[in-house]
Amino acid sequence: MNIHEYQAKELFSKYGIAVPAGKAAQSADDFESALNSINGDVVVVKSQIHAGGRGKGTFTSGFKGGVKVLPRTEAIEVAGKMLGNTLVTHQTGPEGREVKTVYFTEASDIQKEYYLAILLDRASSRPVIIASTEGGVDIETVAEESPEKIIRVIIDPATGIMPFHKRLIAFGLGFSDKNQLKQLDKLLSGLYKMFWETDASMVEINPLITTPAGDILALDAKVNFDSNALFRHPEIVALRDLGEEDPKEVKASDTGLSYIALDGNIACLVNGAGLAMATMDIIKHFGGNPANFLDVGGGANADQVTEAFKIILSDPNVKGILVNIFGGIMSCKTIADGIIEAAKNVEINVPLVVRLEGNSVAEGKQALSDSGLALTPADSLSDAAQKIVKLVAEAN
Ligand code: GDP
Ligand code: MG
Repeated sequence: MNIHEYQAKELFSKYGIAVPAGKAAQSADDFESALNSINGDVVVVKSQIHAGGRGKGTFTSGFKGGVKVLPRTEAIEVAGKMLGNTLVTHQTGPEGREVKTVYFTEASDIQKEYYLAILLDRASSRPVIIASTEGGVDIETVAEESPEKIIRVIIDPATGIMPFHKRLIAFGLGFSDKNQLKQLDKLLSGLYKMFWETDASMVEINPLITTPAGDILALDAKVNFDSNALFRHPEIVALRDLGEEDPKEVKASDTGLSYIALDGNIACLVNGAGLAMATMDIIKHFGGNPANFLDVGGGANADQVTEAFKIILSDPNVKGILVNIFGGIMSCKTIADGIIEAAKNVEINVPLVVRLEGNSVAEGKQALSDSGLALTPADSLSDAAQKIVKLVAEAN
């Protein structure tokens, strides 16, 4: 789960990480009071969307820049050009994202920009701190063009962050001033504590800056939380902005389904994450492209299957559906009933291939054939994948 920059900075403040003062506004009526709450003749106006690259982004209106450093007198006018408009960045895709919140912050003088992040390193199964002197740019670009400029320090979760970890980062980034070392020490401790206590999967500051006065500040903030741990953080769940998420994915998670939208045209309805991955792979193998990952889980009922069909069919890119069920805990009959029920509620107007195997498979197949539904049965995973790829190709 992602949160907005302004929310991440509120969390930073709680953990003692220095950020520029700021205030967010969701409506133009609140611009003035938000602006009045911060100081300086120069301020920063920042579009809040769950995507990076805002500074270099362009609005569909033609207005350039989702982050603007400007004189206080121009702030409200520029905020008005952001709010309610669609910002396109290299992370949003061409459709962009509508800006529903604008964040006003005090402007900082930048001496140097750095990159700092903590994330989970899957290879070592430990938190890793990533730091670089090349801040303010895409870290992926730095990793590709000058990998030697990236410092990686792996933390043993049993000890947490230790003084030597902090020294490795500080000296790696070239800090030697006593006062700055002290600030960085506090910042790293706070950031690690926050990463750990909130069950974050990533905290990223890009850029982390030094000012000519010698201060160290987080100018940007991105935080990602492990969704599996949200049950123990109601205060973080409260920060969720459903407006930033794919409505199909929101609906699916409300129904207890695991659904991820993809950009292909063959929808998959599968039980079990591993089988769902294998199904997507085999569709690809036979030249098709999956439109989604959809795991209805081991114990789905007919209502959930109906909901799954509705979600799939609300995607205009879907040109065919492959149902691939292995009845282990789930009965194939339940899935068959779900498909029949779904067909009563939503018009299935694209080719449908169904492969059932396992528990109550005969009853399931019988129910489907008795229903008179127009569907293509399949016997094996590869048979099913070949059939749906062929049907979709023929129909288009
Ligand atoms: P992003 O483009 O989505 O990563 O948004 P950022 O918050 O990182 O802002 C983009 C860029 O704007 C930063 O990398 C800075 O170069 C610049 N910027 C943001 N805030 C300030 C500020 O207070 N002062 C100055 N001089 N530049 C800023
Ligand atoms: Mg940034």
